[in-house]
Amino acid sequence: MDFDSDRYDRQKRVKGWNQDKIRKSKVLVIGAGALGNEVIKMLVQLGVEKITVVDFDFVIPANLNRCVLFTQNQADIKTLKVDAVVEAVKNLNSDCTVEGLNKKVEELSEVFFKNFDFVFGCLDNLSARLHVNANCYGFVPFSDGGTDGFNGRVQFVFKNACLECTVSKNDFTNALRRYSCSGEKKEFDEAKIPALPTTTSIIAGIQVQSFIKYALTGEINDEIIFYDGMLNKTSMFKVEKSNKCNVHQFG
Ligand SMILES: [Zn+2]
Repeated sequence: MDFDSDRYDRQKRVKGWNQDKIRKSKVLVIGAGALGNEVIKMLVQLGVEKITVVDFDFVIPANLNRCVLFTQNQADIKTLKVDAVVEAVKNLNSDCTVEGLNKKVEELSEVFFKNFDFVFGCLDNLSARLHVNANCYGFVPFSDGGTDGFNGRVQFVFKNACLECTVSKNDFTNALRRYSCSGEKKEFDEAKIPALPTTTSIIAGIQVQSFIKYALTGEINDEIIFYDGMLNKTSMFKVEKSNKCNVHQFG
């Protein structure tokens, strides 16, 4: 048998591998920015057949230092990020299809999230993260990633401590302040977060690794992972589930 003609041959050699479990997982990626690009690239390499991605934004030149699926031309003509992702995946692996939804995170309901086996949070703001957290909690495993220059963070949420358990009161107030009473996002200039392709790949890699482990074993890692690329150090931080948390105070 010609092992080299099976694109998944080398991963199938990993102990405990089950390609069917990976292939059939229905995966949702929230955000088609830096982390979203990397996460989707790896899901497609792994052979995940059905991927849904949600983003409302379009491609700009400043995305190109870390978004592997976008092109200069797409930035020039302001292609929607979800359309750019769908296009790129077609060329990467014909086993996989991506459905791109041009929507804001806040438009997604709890019913929508329940369609999926696993959710990736690839977001750049706390308000959107808290929306995903509250809608997935207890139903769908959710891996939330974030980066800031040399640093990054991954938190896995399912039935353990959630994002809101860990958010300080001050952060929460700031997140809410981004919205007016009508729920419309206020327009103001926010400082842009420093971003490197290296940290993006590392954090997205940890997120996808948590998906692989969950798909193969059903196990989750309930510690928050902090990565410091300058000190070359990774720390784990265990958070306790808070019984005062709004997301799961009744269960
Ligand atoms: Zn909580």
